[in-house]
Amino acid sequence: MKNISIKWKIFLYLIGFCGVLLVMLWLFQVVFLGKFYKDIRTNDVKAAAKTVMENIESKELGAILLDLNRSREIFVTITDENNKTIFGDDANRKIESKQELIKERRPPESISFTQEVTLSSGKKITINSNAIITPVNATVTTLRIQLYYITGFMLLFSIILALVIAKRVSKPIEKINESAKILATGNYQTVFHGNGYKEINELSDTLNFTAKELAKVEGLRQELIANISHDLRTPLTLISGYAEAMRDLPEENNMENAQIILDATKRLTTLVNDVLDISKLQAGEQNINYATYNLTQSLQETISRMRELVKKDGYSLNFVYEEEVMIVADEKKLAQAFYNLLTNAINYTGADKTVIIKQLVVEDKVRIEVIDSGEGISAENLQNIWNRYYKVDQVHKRAVVGTGLGLSIVKSIIELHEGEFGVLSKINEGSVFWFSLKK
Ligand code: ADP
Repeated sequence: MKNISIKWKIFLYLIGFCGVLLVMLWLFQVVFLGKFYKDIRTNDVKAAAKTVMENIESKELGAILLDLNRSREIFVTITDENNKTIFGDDANRKIESKQELIKERRPPESISFTQEVTLSSGKKITINSNAIITPVNATVTTLRIQLYYITGFMLLFSIILALVIAKRVSKPIEKINESAKILATGNYQTVFHGNGYKEINELSDTLNFTAKELAKVEGLRQELIANISHDLRTPLTLISGYAEAMRDLPEENNMENAQIILDATKRLTTLVNDVLDISKLQAGEQNINYATYNLTQSLQETISRMRELVKKDGYSLNFVYEEEVMIVADEKKLAQAFYNLLTNAINYTGADKTVIIKQLVVEDKVRIEVIDSGEGISAENLQNIWNRYYKVDQVHKRAVVGTGLGLSIVKSIIELHEGEFGVLSKINEGSVFWFSLKK
């Protein structure tokens, strides 16, 4: 059933439905018609007998009996104790003559129902109700022929209906499938047109959204490659240039130049590590090594190391906290997330070259804030900075390795820890990047 097209499936369902309907029609109209008819007649006779009995002493009795005779072909005779007919001679004759008529062809079937009643005068009478059952054979033959036509018509109708419905249902699906195939080849400009019904409209909306997202990621990916190549090339050029100079010119063979080469190598290492980390985090390959440790001390260590690094450029890092906090987390990963926020803050902070780090305890959570006095982030960029490869500006303001991966690494790590994170920032008013975890 899996590979049957929608057209045939609908057709099969319709045929099934028609089949059930036809079988029911055949059963009721042909097979059981006689029995139904007999049952109905029996009930009729019983009802007539009841009416007669109820009106046995009424003046209307004559009219009632006549009416039963005429409209329902039920013949009632009433006899007394001596079997003498009180009423119904006429009617009886009628029924007998009718029976005579039919007898020649086929013995007629009739239903009779006898009841004994005692009148108020003490007289006992017998009511005998009679009805002939007309043979239904002729009717059945007619119905059967009619049913042949109906069956044929229904089959034809199902085929046409199945074709029409299938076309309406499957056409848009086929169209979407074609567009999806184009999308799969990497053409992210593909537009999905779904019309016809709600589900298809929703499907094509979803696919349009997917295509848009894919296009975005593709754009970012290409940008990343461009950025990374640029970021790789700059230090590499530095390294090879300086190394060559040191090899060829003895006076260039000094400590400063060696330091430049070392710095460039460090930058390359950071870049390569970032790329590796994010791809591992995103592939879900990294699992967390939970352990209880002193978060405050760990932050302090990262800050001290960083302080040493940026001291010569005049940056100051202030760590504010009230108490030391122990948490259960992956120390290495959290330190990396914090390190990324710290690097960003240093890179983007304002002229005062100050970054404040706050550790706050709110109820059962510990919240880390990294505050800078930089130019902030616009509202529209705020939504995107946590995305992979996203960078607000293409130009690196400082000699910073900016891959656009730092924040998405933070995001992945905090999400792994089931913590919360965010940023408060306004243009020209600095930024507060924060994350919070259960103590
Ligand atoms: P990058 O390697 O470019 O810093 P991130 O993922 O760390 O990548 O950051 C993404 C973007 O968010 C950055 O390009 C920058 O524009 C912006 N951003 C991050 N931190 C700050 C900050 N403290 N102040 C202003 N902008 C920031």
